[in-house]
Amino acid sequence: MAWSFAKAFQNLFTGSRLVDESDWENLEDTLLQADFGPRVTDEVIEAVHAVADATANLDTEDLRRILGEVLEERLAAFDPTLSLQAESGFPAVVLVVGVNGVGKTTTLGKFAKFIATRGKRVLVGAADTFRAAAVDQLATWAERAGVDIVKPQVDGQDPAAVAFQAVERATAEGHDVVIIDTAGRLHTKSGLMDELAKIKRVIEKKAPINEVLLVLDATTGQNGLNQAEAFLEQAGVTGLVLTKLDGSARGGFVFAVQELTGIPVKLVGQGESIDDLTGFTPHVFVRQLLD
Ligand code: GDP
Ligand code: GDP
Ligand code: MG
Repeated sequence: MAWSFAKAFQNLFTGSRLVDESDWENLEDTLLQADFGPRVTDEVIEAVHAVADATANLDTEDLRRILGEVLEERLAAFDPTLSLQAESGFPAVVLVVGVNGVGKTTTLGKFAKFIATRGKRVLVGAADTFRAAAVDQLATWAERAGVDIVKPQVDGQDPAAVAFQAVERATAEGHDVVIIDTAGRLHTKSGLMDELAKIKRVIEKKAPINEVLLVLDATTGQNGLNQAEAFLEQAGVTGLVLTKLDGSARGGFVFAVQELTGIPVKLVGQGESIDDLTGFTPHVFVRQLLD
């Protein structure tokens, strides 16, 4: 897949020739433009310099190789493994959270297919109950993914009640994984974080929660992170999902976001179709960026 942000990196290294000062400037500009952020950019440049300065006749191929090693090393500090191992008698529970429009429901649909394809029985819960359209959207994805769904029994039902029923049904019917969709914005007076806390409390009466995945839109880069601050502070986030990498010039956000939050990126969305979701594999990611 050709990411728009990867092109800028690949341009840095076209044609094998000795590296000069302008290459270093271009590298810095490219990192900043890709939204690595100033601190990570400085540290990456410094780490690349440390190896490059000890390399005789440094050419653009050397620079590409050294940059790749430095980037992989930074990513290796975070474990991208999803925890979907449930205690016996329980389904694994995954809660999907984030602000409006970042791609929660779409991710949920793709993710349901991703794990169903690997032989797990999946049930999704439509706990974004404010708009009937949100429930219909999830139902369409569930159908495409071939997984079961629990919907509100009446319009605008309490989201926590839907989450509860989803986990209850999955426990009774022996599903392996339950994934709960949530609202990114509320129309009611209660705060979004209060509602999420209630959803979590109610789920935990039935089963432990394995993952709280915060979905972030890569096209908004670090601005999007500010919008998601309340989730990071209060929602007990265990993993990040980066969506819309296909249309983003800010792929460096993957690096910045992990280091700013201390939370690993676990899934990456790169398109609107059902198969456009992958696990996050640092080696593959860096190769896609630089090769
Ligand atoms: P939600 O409000 O967080 O549930 O967001 P939705 O799942 O409804 O998605 C909002 C929009 O983003 C929709 O138009 C999706 O098709 C689009 N979208 C979601 N993920 C991706 C992605 O990885 N790439 C692209 N290009 N679009 C995406
Ligand atoms: P605003 O007052 O300009 O922010 O707009 P509204 O509150 O009227 O809502 C704008 C859009 O967001 C509409 O499509 C609403 O249906 C949708 N919306 C509002 N509140 C919620 C909510 O709690 N959950 C979801 N999923 N959508 C909402
Ligand atoms: Mg949604």
